[in-house]
Amino acid sequence: MKMFINGERREASDGRTIDVLNSATLEFIDTVPAATEKDVNEAIAAAKEGARYWGSLPVYERSAILNKAADLIDSRREELAGSLSIEMGKIISEARPEVRVAAQIIRGFAEKANHLYGQTMTDYQVGTEHDIIFTRHEPLGVVACISPFNYPVELCSQKYAAALAAGNAVIIKPSTDNPLTVMKVAEILWEAGVPGNVLQLVTGAGSDIGDILSESPDIAAITFTGSTAVGKHIAEKAAGTLKRVFLELGGNDPYIVFEDADFELAVTGAVRGRVQNAGQTCCSPKRFLVQNSIKDAFIKRAVEQIGALVMGSPLDDKTELGSLISAKAAKTVDEQVKLTISQGAKLICGGTFISETYYAPTILEVTPSMDIAKDMECFGPVIPIIGFDTEEEAIAIANQTMYGLQAGVITKDINKAIRVAAKLECGGVVINQSGNYRHLDQPFGGRKMSGIGREGVSVTLDEMTQVKSYILRNILE
Ligand code: NAP
Repeated sequence: MKMFINGERREASDGRTIDVLNSATLEFIDTVPAATEKDVNEAIAAAKEGARYWGSLPVYERSAILNKAADLIDSRREELAGSLSIEMGKIISEARPEVRVAAQIIRGFAEKANHLYGQTMTDYQVGTEHDIIFTRHEPLGVVACISPFNYPVELCSQKYAAALAAGNAVIIKPSTDNPLTVMKVAEILWEAGVPGNVLQLVTGAGSDIGDILSESPDIAAITFTGSTAVGKHIAEKAAGTLKRVFLELGGNDPYIVFEDADFELAVTGAVRGRVQNAGQTCCSPKRFLVQNSIKDAFIKRAVEQIGALVMGSPLDDKTELGSLISAKAAKTVDEQVKLTISQGAKLICGGTFISETYYAPTILEVTPSMDIAKDMECFGPVIPIIGFDTEEEAIAIANQTMYGLQAGVITKDINKAIRVAAKLECGGVVINQSGNYRHLDQPFGGRKMSGIGREGVSVTLDEMTQVKSYILRNILE
C-alpha cells in the first residue's frame, strides 16, 4: 500500500519499501513505503495547511464526516477484521470487536465535540463586576498520532478521532509490523470527506522517522501509545519545542486473588485476561498474586484451563490463542521465560515454541525478587504466579514496580476490594475481573512509568484543544 501525503497516495521519494508479513504464517502480504525525511516534512507542511482549513470548519461538519467514516467502517467490519487478523495473528473473534470499537470511538468523539463547552467566569473578584470573561476550546494545530502494533485499529482511533473532532490535522504513524489495516481505515476517512491535507499517514521505522515528528516545530502535539522506552525518547526529543506529549506506555499489572474469591471466576479471569491477544495487551494481568492458602489449587486449575485452550489459525472462529506479532517478539518472550527460570522460578507448564511465532502458554511459580515480578514487562501468554499471605504483603508486591497502568482485585469482600484498590499505584482498578478492561469513555492511562495523561472519550478532547480566554472589559456598564 502507499502512504497518504497531501491528498495523494505516495511511494517513498527514494522508492524504498518495507515488507509486511502474515504473523501466523510469516508469508509475505504487501509492502509499505519507508518514508524519507523529505516525505515526512512534506506531510508536516501539508498538515499545517490542512489544520487551518479544518479548524475553521463548524464542528457539526467535522462531526458529520467522522460519523460517516464510522458508518463505513461498520459496513466493512468483516473485511477490516480479516485484514487485521492476517497481518498480526489476532484471532478473528477479537479482531471483529476491535473494528467495532474503533467505529464507536469515532462516533464518541464526534458526538462529544459537538458539546465541548467553554466556561463563563463570575464577578467574585472585586473590580471585575463589569467584565464578561468566557473561554473557548480551540484546536492545537497538527497532531502526530503514533500507535503500537497490539490494538492498531482501536488505539489509533483513540488518537486521530479525538484530534480530528477537536479541529486538528493529523499525521498518523502506524506500527511497521502491521500498518495495513490502519491504512485501510485512513482510506475510509478520506472517502468519508476528511480532506487530503488534514489526514496524512506516513509509514517507516519509528527509529528512522520518529524524531522528525517529535522535533518538528510545526507539530503541536504528539499522542503516543507504545513502550516506555520509546515514550521516554519521544518526550526528550519533543521537549525542545515544548509540544504537548501524551504517553500511554507499558505495564506489569498485578492481579490479586484473595482466598475468599470466587475460585472459578478468579482462575478464568487470570487465564482469559492473560491470553487475550496472545498476551500482547498493555493492561493484561502480568503478575498473578495469589494468597498462599489457595495457591496450589489455583495453579492446578490454571494448568487445566490453559491445556484446554484452542491454538490455531487466527482466521478460524474456534481459535482462542493466535500467534505473536513476529518471530522476534516470540524470541523475546522465550528469553524472558528462560531468564526467570535462571533466577529460580519453577516452570509449571509451557516454556516452548509451537512455531516461530506461536509460543506455548506458560505458567511459572516465581518470587517477588525476580525481574518478572518487578519491572520486566512480558508481552506473551505467560502467567507468573507469586504467593502472598497478608493484604499488606499483596499491596507491597503489587506496587514494587516502576509501572502503574491497571490492576485486578478478586475477592467477595467489597470493603477489602476498595481498601486495596485505593492503595494501588495505578490508573485504574478492576474489581472481580482482571485489569484487562477498557471502556471507551474511561479516562484510561497510567501512573509512574506507564504514562502521562489519560485517554478516552470523556477526557481527550480537553487534551487535544487549548483553552482561550476572551475578556470583554466594561461590557456591562
Ligand atoms: P513500540 O516499539 O514502542 O512502538 C510503538 C510505536 O512507536 C510504533 O509505531 C513504532 O514504530 C514507533 N516508534 C518506534 N521508535 C520510535 C521513535 N524513536 N520515535 C517515534 N516513534 C517511534 O511499542 P510496540 O511494541 O508497538 O507496543 C507494545 C508496547 O506498547 C508495550 O510496552 C505495551 O504495554 C504498550 N502499550 C501501551 C498501551 C497503553 O494504553 N498504555 C496500549 C498498548 C500498548 P515502528 O513500529 O516502526 O518501530
